[in-house]
Amino acid sequence: MDRFFAVVNPAAGGGRSAKLAGPALARLREKGLKVDVIASTGQGHAVQLAREAYEQGYRCFLAVGGDGTAHEILNGVFAGRNGVPRVALGFLPLGTGNSFLRDFAKDGAAASMQALLEGRRRTVDLLRLTHAQGEIYSFNLLSMGFTADVAALTNRMFKPFGDLGYLLGVFVRVAQLRRRSLALRCDDDAEWDEGRSLFLTFNNSKYTGGTMLIAPDADPTDGLIEFVRWGPIGRLGLLRTLPRLYDGSHIKHPLASRRAVRHVEFKEAAPVDVMIDGEVVTVECRAIDVLPAAVDVFGFSASCTFLLLRPLWCSWGFFSMRANTIGCSAPFASESLFCRARVWK
Ligand SMILES: [Mg+2]
Repeated sequence: MDRFFAVVNPAAGGGRSAKLAGPALARLREKGLKVDVIASTGQGHAVQLAREAYEQGYRCFLAVGGDGTAHEILNGVFAGRNGVPRVALGFLPLGTGNSFLRDFAKDGAAASMQALLEGRRRTVDLLRLTHAQGEIYSFNLLSMGFTADVAALTNRMFKPFGDLGYLLGVFVRVAQLRRRSLALRCDDDAEWDEGRSLFLTFNNSKYTGGTMLIAPDADPTDGLIEFVRWGPIGRLGLLRTLPRLYDGSHIKHPLASRRAVRHVEFKEAAPVDVMIDGEVVTVECRAIDVLPAAVDVFGFSASCTFLLLRPLWCSWGFFSMRANTIGCSAPFASESLFCRARVWK
């Protein structure tokens, strides 16, 4: 089996990652996985680490943290390179969001570990945003408007509160509601679409913010971008309909629409906030494309997960309990795990 390059974000999940990563990685090693581990020290660091690791020959990566860690690893591998041979990505989801894995299993941590131990992979697509200064890759979604406004506020003020923090961000942004126009056209469209929207979202997978089913028809394996748009709904209508974002039925609202596309082109040259896999950047968008079957992820279908979940659930509970009962503080866990950080193969 190939050697894994694991990047741990000790800050993910409000420090939960620092406590649980050590025992979880030890478990993988006990079962025979070869894993080299390094901790990221801040935003963007995992991009640099993954880029260097790819250049050194690593082709299997492990994101230990949240969606942000996986996003940075993929951008370290893909950004600025042409013709990247397929790489594999596993997850130890210890962050607050972990939206992507929800497409494959409801209990991401246990299912991911099981998939890693059994070497089970699924091939998924990636999305690529081309902007004025370069390109950014996404495995979950890209989104503009209300969703980007919520993510920017949540990341700035409510991140430590997890799902509740995201909900707080939603309510504040409902109070400050803005509906904007962003001219675009898809595939062979002759006309620019310049209608006002609450949000535009371009999805590889279905969920955002952990549990919000924003694109119920998205499929990360179909070679298509799931484009969901919600028109200029008012505050009252949005508040009434908000719960429907969590079960995906918002898509049936008269102002909502969806379509599956391969290419999106943007008309405007002005910078806009774009939420990409949970993080917000301000860029001049040019285009979004899909890279079919770009990455193998270690993940399960829901039915497989149901059968295999229980033993790992227990193990995960044990890891959590053990880390807590021995007083495994974040600095202690980090030191014990990462003192051999640069263990290259
Ligand atoms: Mg798709």
